[in-house]
Amino acid sequence: MGAIDLHARPSKDFEAKLAETQKLLIQAASEFTPLKQASSLGAEDVVITHLINALELDIPVFVLETGALHQETLDLLARTQARSRAPVEVWRPVQESVVQFVAREGKDAMYRSIELRKDCCHIRKLEPLARALAGQKAWITGLRREQSAARADVPLVDTSEVAKVTAGGGQAAAGRIKLNPLADWTWGDVWHYIGINQVDYNPLHDQFFPSIGCAPCTRAISLGEDFRAGRWWWEDEAAKECGLHVNKEEKVAA
Ligand code: SF4
Repeated sequence: MGAIDLHARPSKDFEAKLAETQKLLIQAASEFTPLKQASSLGAEDVVITHLINALELDIPVFVLETGALHQETLDLLARTQARSRAPVEVWRPVQESVVQFVAREGKDAMYRSIELRKDCCHIRKLEPLARALAGQKAWITGLRREQSAARADVPLVDTSEVAKVTAGGGQAAAGRIKLNPLADWTWGDVWHYIGINQVDYNPLHDQFFPSIGCAPCTRAISLGEDFRAGRWWWEDEAAKECGLHVNKEEKVAA
């Protein structure tokens, strides 16, 4: 049984949620430019890219190709680049930084300590993310409240970074708005959309990978396990964010 058969269960108010998401994306395309969609090519992100293309919005999509992705994810990236109306950018880490880190700490360093795992995430994800987002007023993510306790309060439009920079006396423009158009969608809503629109998705979802990141740091989950149990499974729950979606205060403290 595939992921669509397993998970597609729309909420009673799915149509209203979809309309709200479409409205937010249309508004964002004119009000929050320049903006981009950050895509991990996971289920939520392929839904958003599909909506951007279906609505013919001029919102580029970018993917962080960390150098440690599954072949299934790389194949989906190639298919997405070939088919998408919206441009699909690929951002990679600085090769020299990766080579030096692996030579110094080994390719399995992430399992030895949280610090080394975060160093790897910094080199492979956060530094390329900073380059991908340079000069952007806003970005779009696939965060949903249901994904984890840490994401339970995710708003549709997150201006907290802008507010913080302003409160700190800096330039408001230095902060960035984060748009989470699927914030109130359920997992069942996501797969309902994928099913009825025949959206191409990562086949790892059919093998019980709900959340897909780098190959060394992602595993399948069992029935009853948390949504993000397959990510950095050897760490405490509280440490389980790579920094992409951690707010600035937490990032400094991390
Ligand atoms: S998820 Fe794992 S492999 Fe990917 S950047 Fe982070 S530590 Fe490195």
